[in-house]
Amino acid sequence: MQTKLPKALANTAHGKKAADILSSCVHCGFCLATCPTYQLTGNELDSPRGRIYLIKSALEDNQFSPSSIKHLDRCLTCRSCETTCPSGVKYSELVGIGRELIENKRPIWQKVARYGLRQFLSKPALVNLTKPFTQHSAIQSPVIERLATKGRVLLLTGCVQPTLTPNTNHTTKNVLTTLGYQVEQTSQQSCCGALDHHTSASTTALIKIKDNLDKWLALIESGLEMIISTASGCGVMVKDYPTLFETDDAYYQKAITISKHTKDIAEFLVEQDLSSLPKKKVKIAYHAPCTLQHGQKLPNLVEGLLTKLGYELTPITDSHLCCGSAGTYSIFEPSTSKQLRDNKVENLTQSQPELIVTSNIGCQLHISKGTGIPVKHWIELLDCSAALMEV
Ligand code: SF4
Ligand code: SF4
Repeated sequence: MQTKLPKALANTAHGKKAADILSSCVHCGFCLATCPTYQLTGNELDSPRGRIYLIKSALEDNQFSPSSIKHLDRCLTCRSCETTCPSGVKYSELVGIGRELIENKRPIWQKVARYGLRQFLSKPALVNLTKPFTQHSAIQSPVIERLATKGRVLLLTGCVQPTLTPNTNHTTKNVLTTLGYQVEQTSQQSCCGALDHHTSASTTALIKIKDNLDKWLALIESGLEMIISTASGCGVMVKDYPTLFETDDAYYQKAITISKHTKDIAEFLVEQDLSSLPKKKVKIAYHAPCTLQHGQKLPNLVEGLLTKLGYELTPITDSHLCCGSAGTYSIFEPSTSKQLRDNKVENLTQSQPELIVTSNIGCQLHISKGTGIPVKHWIELLDCSAALMEV
């Protein structure tokens, strides 16, 4: 795709990156078939190719109508199009540039709503106040304590996970302790920056990200083996930190190091001897979050791990499609989000599983609102002390 960016923009880092990405798109349209929003509306402007055109004209002519904002906002950033694209178009980086452009053109009420939500979710004290009404599942087993025989790992606890689904971090810690690791944890205040980044508060996001990079790098220099994520939305954010810095920025190399030292819990566990973990034959439906299969490019990883551990996984139609959670998407685009969830729940429950499991808190909470079947993080199945194993 040929681009003619205005000179002032073409020479900036943003402009160069955008021009590179735009030129890699060959308009083939293969991505349309796997885009959830295009499937729902059939409108080219709700497809990856259509949105690429919208961003291109915005960059070239500074043209951004309310309709362009609507079609970009409808994008889930699920990155299914990246998985499908034969030309390797880095769509998510381009849409990030497009979203920064539209941020100033939003109506004031939208800016206030986005600011308010960011402030609320980034303050654990406020989030914790909602616990009696919002907690999805409590801790269900005792803490396992064991002398560490292996290395130290850092568990990314997340901003809302400790309040809403504390059993996920608790079980992960128990599993890693059982395997011989010494587990350190980030504080609830220490956000990965995804919330700010995805609502185009890039300056605030970068402040948090640089702080994380400095702290985590110091831990790695002191011998920390790995940073473990249990929420694939946080995991992909941390792994993508290098894309947020210019290569000559001092933080770029730090971001590369941290990215290389970050793994999803499934990625970490497949390399371990899991013979000491419990096995149970339960019929489960696994929902693969977009942030794991398309973002972190780890399709079929959890499915393989759970099958190896004896679980019976049901086949899922359209498992590549988003459930509609997509971070704050379910709040700002409730109608599309609900349609996608209804489709997802229908597909997940087709074979009547006893339990639905997933790898990301956002998907877990969103899907659970659409079904009476319990929805958990899959790691909760592996709790090593367990009356605990009851589902
Ligand atoms: S599949 Fe890739 S190259 Fe083809 S239109 Fe979509 S983004 Fe462009
Ligand atoms: S990120 Fe998802 S919703 Fe957005 S254009 Fe790509 S496939 Fe469609």
